[in-house]
Amino acid sequence: MQNKSMMKKMMKGAAIGISIVLLLTLLPGKNVSADNVSDIQKSIQEKQSQIKAEQEEKNRIKNNISDVKKLKEQLEKSKNDLSAYVTELDRTVMEISDKIDGLNNDITAKQAEIDQTKKELEEAIDIKDAQYAAMKKRVQSIYEQGDDYYLEILFTTHGFGDFLNSMENINKLADYDAKMYSRYQETVDYVEACEEKLESEEESLQELKQAAEDEKKATEELIRTKEQEIQSYQADIANKAATLQEYEAELAARDAVIAEIEKAVAAEQSKLAQARVYDGGAFCWPAPAYVRVSSEYGYRIHPIYGTQKFHSGVDLAAPGGSDILAAYNGTVVGAGYNASMGNYVIIDHGNSLMTIYMHASKLLVSNGQEVSRGQRIALVGTTGNSTGNHLHFSVKLNGSYVSPWGYINHP
Ligand SMILES: [Zn+2]
Repeated sequence: MQNKSMMKKMMKGAAIGISIVLLLTLLPGKNVSADNVSDIQKSIQEKQSQIKAEQEEKNRIKNNISDVKKLKEQLEKSKNDLSAYVTELDRTVMEISDKIDGLNNDITAKQAEIDQTKKELEEAIDIKDAQYAAMKKRVQSIYEQGDDYYLEILFTTHGFGDFLNSMENINKLADYDAKMYSRYQETVDYVEACEEKLESEEESLQELKQAAEDEKKATEELIRTKEQEIQSYQADIANKAATLQEYEAELAARDAVIAEIEKAVAAEQSKLAQARVYDGGAFCWPAPAYVRVSSEYGYRIHPIYGTQKFHSGVDLAAPGGSDILAAYNGTVVGAGYNASMGNYVIIDHGNSLMTIYMHASKLLVSNGQEVSRGQRIALVGTTGNSTGNHLHFSVKLNGSYVSPWGYINHP
């Protein structure tokens, strides 16, 4: 598993990252000299790029997670399809078993018929044989007695007419015997034919049963194969679930690393803020593309809510995409987005003096970055709670908004 060893390496890297961050947080002393300021600034920038690298890594992991999730879903679908197929096969096996049961019943019934027919055949043969024996006996006695028999009949009868009559009777008797024999023979032939037919029918039933049993066996074999496939899918799915868990753990670890670095950055920024001294120089005009003030600092009617509201800065209705400049030297201590400010930048100028720039269409600086007076930091826009393109510019001293006119000069 190449993934796992890679992940372990990354985790180890993350752990080293945390140690470095902790070390750097503990190092600086109480007094921050000018040299230390640039060291801290460098350290903040390094940490910012560490955070960026961590976030890129997180994105890579998130992509992996979504890939693995997709694979897992596919596997689950295949497994479910296969399970449905096996259920169908189970039903087929049950149907075949029912069919085999039916055929067994038919075969038993057919065998009973055959037994019955065999018995009838034996009886018919017995009757035929008895008839044959009787006939043979009569014929034999006629022949044994030879001419004497006829003479006797001649003498015991009265006259030639009677003799002829007797001869006729003997003939009649022979005829009757022959007819009876032939009739019994027909019965025997018929019953024999019936038996043959029944036996051939039974054979067909046996063949059908054999075919059904073969089909059942083949279906059961198929079920076994499919169940093995299902098990292999299940193992694969469990594998993917384990991988997902590892990825989630790694994400959490990286989040922890980022939180640690951010904490260290905040600590360093607060040290910088304490070290930075505002020298009292004049601010530059932060939106050079527009010189008039479209909304003043202080209490005013809010353009959206129509209520009397405190306006924490000045609005400069510069065109969208025009430059926003850093009013003075400082450190970017906030660069991001929120629903009310839109894209914003906050710059710390030292001595607890800060400037805030809102509603930008694009940010050109990032948190922790050093900027100098007149440097491009963002582009004018209308993001956040805004009715049109403009720069909202605020000045904050010791945590409270103050009038920007104490720091900027109207050009
Ligand atoms: Zn405003």
